[in-house]
Amino acid sequence: MPNRRTVLQGAVALAVNAGLIGRAAGQAKWTSDPFQLGVASGCPRPDGFVLWTRLAPDPLSADPATPGGMTGGDVPVTYEVATDPAMRNIARHGRARAEAAFAHSVHEQVSGLSPGRDYWYRFTSGGAQSRIGHVRTAPAIGAATERMRFGFVSCSNYEFGYFSAYRHLAAEDPALIIFLGDYIYEHIDPRAHTRRHSDNAEAKTLQGYRNRYAQYRLDPDLQTLHAAAAALATWDDHEVQNDYADQWSQTFDPPEIFLARRATAYQAFYEHMPVQPHLSRPNGPAMRVYDRFAFGDLVAFHLIDGRQYRSREACYAPPDKGRAHAVNGAICPELLQPGRSMLGRMQEAWLFDGLSRSRARWNILAQDVLMTRLRERQGDGSFDVWSDDWNGYPASRTRVLQHIRDSRVANPVVIGGDIHSFWANELKLDFDDARAPVIATELVGTSITSPPGPEEMFRAYVRDNPNVKFFDGRHRGYVCADILPGRMESRFQIVSDVTDPKATRSTLATAVIEDGRAGVSI
Ligand code: FE
Ligand code: CA
Repeated sequence: MPNRRTVLQGAVALAVNAGLIGRAAGQAKWTSDPFQLGVASGCPRPDGFVLWTRLAPDPLSADPATPGGMTGGDVPVTYEVATDPAMRNIARHGRARAEAAFAHSVHEQVSGLSPGRDYWYRFTSGGAQSRIGHVRTAPAIGAATERMRFGFVSCSNYEFGYFSAYRHLAAEDPALIIFLGDYIYEHIDPRAHTRRHSDNAEAKTLQGYRNRYAQYRLDPDLQTLHAAAAALATWDDHEVQNDYADQWSQTFDPPEIFLARRATAYQAFYEHMPVQPHLSRPNGPAMRVYDRFAFGDLVAFHLIDGRQYRSREACYAPPDKGRAHAVNGAICPELLQPGRSMLGRMQEAWLFDGLSRSRARWNILAQDVLMTRLRERQGDGSFDVWSDDWNGYPASRTRVLQHIRDSRVANPVVIGGDIHSFWANELKLDFDDARAPVIATELVGTSITSPPGPEEMFRAYVRDNPNVKFFDGRHRGYVCADILPGRMESRFQIVSDVTDPKATRSTLATAVIEDGRAGVSI
């Protein structure tokens, strides 16, 4: 088997366009590296995980469906899973398909492995070999588990900086990385100067979204992170369009037009994420991402979709209320309607059932946007809230918190992103009553690169919200959390300079949640 170097030298020698030639009987011969987008693993279970790659010899092709002129349908890819980093002891191997209908992506559900152990993997196709990735299976169901480390990340706008935060998280050896949304940004931002989206155009088509993901996946720090550990991924708005809600777009597109766009965006997400093919394969504009993942008896992750099923933005109306806005119940009674939902009826029932049944010591609700009440004092002394996060869906938030209280689920912790700043909050059923019990704890991670809102404005808002125990929007970074039976310690990690590709890392604060006591010390 020629190594990657030989293949690449061959490419130079041939000096032909990227792609493959002479493919016959399932054998491809590559003239440029088809694994330029790297490898990824996801959805770890006690007996396996999903392995991902995408054959893309010409990653930013004008025609990503047939990169480099690939024709003739699916392309066979072999995969190997080993118990050692040198790939000597092969535990599993087989043949997967890079599906032409999904931009030649591979989603291989690997099973039959041992719980709670390290594996390494790689792909081979037509003489080309991918880099080696690392992944750890989850501990056996219910097994006594003493420790688990995971990272959570959100809001990586390529145009605003380098992904050093991803590189530093990879170095912390987490068992799991949770992507909470805004993994890509669909639009072009005139404020950004560090890097440019390759096509300098808003993604609106399958080709546009595919090439956006491909550009992000060419980033070496993001490749390092995906190769280091298994991912879980949910999305926020920018995977499709800023501030959209279900079928309602920010730009007042007719729902059927917007759903066609959403279908292409969801498909591109599927094509580039290590998600479970049996669960997440898109069906028109519908794609399921919500699911549950357990790590022994220690922790259950309830991964939630906060975009696809939500009610329309409150008081959504042309010409200027297509985007999230400050709103209150006096001007907008719709905000307070009891039927409004962030999760949709089916997902809410699924979540409540899972919380009721969970035997895990810690229960992490992984989702996209800020949940705590955040009232924003206006010049006349009245309060508004932001309509795009849980403050725009207060009845839905109340139902979730009531269920958490009534089900007595152990140690509920909500994690989120979207707001480009660090938060540690106490969630209550009555936010105005200082003595009301804390129902759950919320931790929000800052952005990988995306710019925050005005720091002083948020600091002023926070003064009217004693449920907020910590806020800082000045830094870019991520959260790295260690869960032990007795406590959860979450380090708010920051990078020195988002415009420096070699940025260093430090710890801004550590949030500690004690077993059996909702609330946070920081
Ligand atoms: Fe964002
Ligand atoms: Ca967002």
